[in-house]
Order: sequence, then structure tokens, then C-alpha cells
Amino acid sequence: MVKTQFDADIILIGGGLVGLTCALALGMSGLRVSVLDAAPQAASLAPEFDGRVSALGRASTRLLAALGVWPRLADRAQPIHDILVSDGRIGRGPSPLSLHFDHLEGDGEIAGQPLGHIVENRHLRAALYAALSDHAEMVSLRPASLVTGYAPDPGGVTVRLADGGHVRGRLCAAADGRESPLRQMAGIKGVGWNYGQSGLVATVHHDLPHGGLAHEYFLPGGPFAILPMTGNRSSLVWTEPTARAQALRRLDQADFDIELRARFGSQWGEIKSEGPRWIYPLSFHHARDYVADRLVLAGDAAHTIHPIAGQGLNLGLRDVAALAEVLVDAHRLGLDIGSAIVLARYQAWRRFDNVSLSVITDLLNRLFSNDLPLLRLARTIGLGVAGSIGPLRRLAMRHAAGDAGTLPRLLNGNPLT
Ligand SMILES: Cc1cc2nc3c(=O)[nH]c(=O)nc-3n(C[C@H](O)[C@H](O)[C@H](O)COP(=O)(O)OP(=O)(O)OC[C@H]3O[C@@H](n4cnc5c(N)ncnc54)[C@H](O)[C@@H]3O)c2cc1C
Repeated sequence: MVKTQFDADIILIGGGLVGLTCALALGMSGLRVSVLDAAPQAASLAPEFDGRVSALGRASTRLLAALGVWPRLADRAQPIHDILVSDGRIGRGPSPLSLHFDHLEGDGEIAGQPLGHIVENRHLRAALYAALSDHAEMVSLRPASLVTGYAPDPGGVTVRLADGGHVRGRLCAAADGRESPLRQMAGIKGVGWNYGQSGLVATVHHDLPHGGLAHEYFLPGGPFAILPMTGNRSSLVWTEPTARAQALRRLDQADFDIELRARFGSQWGEIKSEGPRWIYPLSFHHARDYVADRLVLAGDAAHTIHPIAGQGLNLGLRDVAALAEVLVDAHRLGLDIGSAIVLARYQAWRRFDNVSLSVITDLLNRLFSNDLPLLRLARTIGLGVAGSIGPLRRLAMRHAAGDAGTLPRLLNGNPLT
């Protein structure tokens, strides 16, 4: 039987960074959203929940500004002034040919602007919750709600919960992460593989200031990213084969710091790791379709990529901007926001950007995570050549900032209404 009573226009499954941002964008534009997440809210705000930081491109920060999130976050964000990409081997330091992006190279309105910002995920999450509290009449947060099923019908969609309850809306938006139970329930196929690598995440304190430099250092075990945080701190995303990453995580601090120094170098004086270490197993997945009957996928649920270029969340936020614009415009025109024709517009808008960046990050990881002499030589020369061609460097900078292609209004920093 088709029920007509709706609890919300959109049932958003997954209150991670993508889901919360999406709920805010939709709620601010007049759509009623119910956010269901399996985790309790207090757990997701605890310091030990997620040790990651995110490198946000300029387009992502413009979106967060348009949603009123950035003002709550800006003084905790570290601007990125330079990015250095180099190849190397443990104990021998980086090879002399490298690729250097400098924020002073940007022209036009981005001249002198940071290349991006590093934010701690926990601070971003807290800023999103604070912004959402201003729109509580449009967005209801329902933490500790495990979704176990969804049933579309011609009039709407019913989402079932583990506690026996259910919620009904016009559309179900799934930002439920890389394993995406909703994607699986809908039978959406895709391509995917495990990298056999894990990203070890830790914070490093150093004596000297980093000057806003992010260093992507390619070592035989995998990329070793040093991301500048506020103060004299940097965040590491240290990729290694999984068994090795787990062994590193278990080391006591003195032994861990010895391994760290062999890779980190001494450019910032004495270094010391601080706080807990986290491990994230790395995998690739791309859904064949981002939409099904009254269902739409966004963020890692649609595409999970290697963190080598720090782009997974940026892609998810670009999904949010496109999806919110498509749904809000359809709603204003009086269209059914769950109809196939509306959802197809979102899929068409996001497919090319998501596929191309997914493929590029996968290839980069394959090219750099090895120690084959010929490949090592080729990539060192490649980095040197790419680094010496100004227009190529500037094009790469625009793409990394999320400034390429037709941007949805939010990514230009403009409100949807
Ligand atoms: C080591 C590492 C470093 C990274 N660095 C960067 C970076 O610098 N820049 C960048 O842009 N990206 C980066 N990324 C990628 C980025 O972290 C992810 O793309 C992003 O966090 C995905 O967010 P999401 O909201 O889509 O998914 P998730 O954060 O996985 O959220 C999914 C949510 O869905 C909920 N959920 C799942 N199933 C159910 C269910 N059945 N019912 C209810 N709720 C459910 C979960 O509780 C969870 O809260 C990095 C990734 C890693 C691993």
C-alpha cells in the first residue's frame, strides 16, 4: 500500500562529513531532512573518533563559507602555501628533481591566496553540528539509528530501522560510506579492489615552523604525506603495506620516532610524535550508478579513492553541491525530487569529475608505490619536467583546488536561494 505521509522530504542516511554538509545545504534551502546515523553523536565528536585531517581545496572552503560553516572553523584551519611533491628512499632523502606548487604563482583573483587549507576532521564535524543547530526546524538529526532496509514505491520511500521503526520521505540520499549498506541493498554494482595498504595517521610536533608547506613524499612502501596543522604540528598520512602499518602502529614512541625521523628529515628541527595513531585500510570503489529507484549516492558511498592526493572529501563535497542544486531547483519547479529524471541530472553532472579523479589517484599510487629502478627513474624525470612547465603546474593547481569545469552555485560561494 502506498503511504502519503512524509516524515521529511529527504531521508539522509549517514551523518559523516558528506552527509552532514548535504543535510545543511538542503535544510538551508527549504527542504526538510531527517539524518539517520548508526553512531551516537557523542562518539563522533570524541577526540579519539577520527585522527584524520582533510586538505580542503578552495572550492570546498567556498562551499563551507556559503553554508555558514567556515566562519566557525577558519581560525582552526591551517592555510597551505606551498606543496612539494618528491620521490625518494628511506635514509637518502628526496631526489633532487621535484614538483613545487607555490601559492604566489596563482593569477587573477586567486593571486596570493592559499592553495587550500588543512582542517582536523573533528573540528569540521563540530562546526557542521553547530551550523545545523541553527536550522533545527528543517533538519532533524537522529543518531544511533541503524538503517536495515529501504523500500521505494511510486509515491515515496520507506526506510526501516534496526529498532523496528521506520521513516518515510520522497527521496533517500545515502552518504553511508565506502561499504554503503544502502548501495548494496539497492543492488548497485561497481568496480573495486583493496590496495593491500593502510594509511597510518599520526600527529608530529616539530621545533621549527612549517611555513604552510605540505610535502607529498613518495617512498617505496607508499606515499608519506606531511600536512601542516596549526602551530608547530604536522599530520602524517603514512602509507605502507597493511601488516607493516600495523607493526608501526604498535611500536612504542621511542622506536616509532626513530622510524619517523628516517623519513621526515630534519628540515623542521627536532621532531616528536604525539597523541594516538590510527590505521585506515585503503581501497578503491566506484559505483556503476549513483542513482536507483528513489535513491541517490554521495561521497564515499559512490566513490572511494586512495588518499594519495587528499581528494576524497573534496569530491564528496562537490557531490553535495551538485545534488543540493539539482534537488532545490526541482523542488522550486514543483517536480518530484525523487523522480528518475531529476536524479539523472545529478548523476550526469558528477560522473566525469568523479571517474577522472578516481582513475588519476589510482594510477598515481600504482606508479609511485614501488621501488622498480626504471619506474623510479621515469617518475623522477617526470616530476622534474612537470615542475618546469609553468602552465601545466597552474592547470594542476586549478584542478586540485576544485576550480575546473562547470561549478554548482555553492562551489562558487553563492547560496542556493
Ligand atoms: C587516511 C585518509 C586520509 C584522507 N585525507 C583526505 C584529505 O586530506 N582530503 C580529502 O578530501 N579526503 C581525504 N580522505 C578521504 C575522506 O576522509 C573521505 O572521503 C570522507 O571522510 C568520506 O566521508 P563520507 O561522509 O562520505 O563517509 P563516512 O565518513 O564513512 O560516513 C559514513 C557514515 O554513514 C554511517 N552509516 C553507515 N552505514 C549506516 C547504516 N546502515 N545506518 C545508518 N548510518 C550508517 C556511518 O556511521 C558514518 O557516520 C582521507 C581518507 C583517508 C582514509
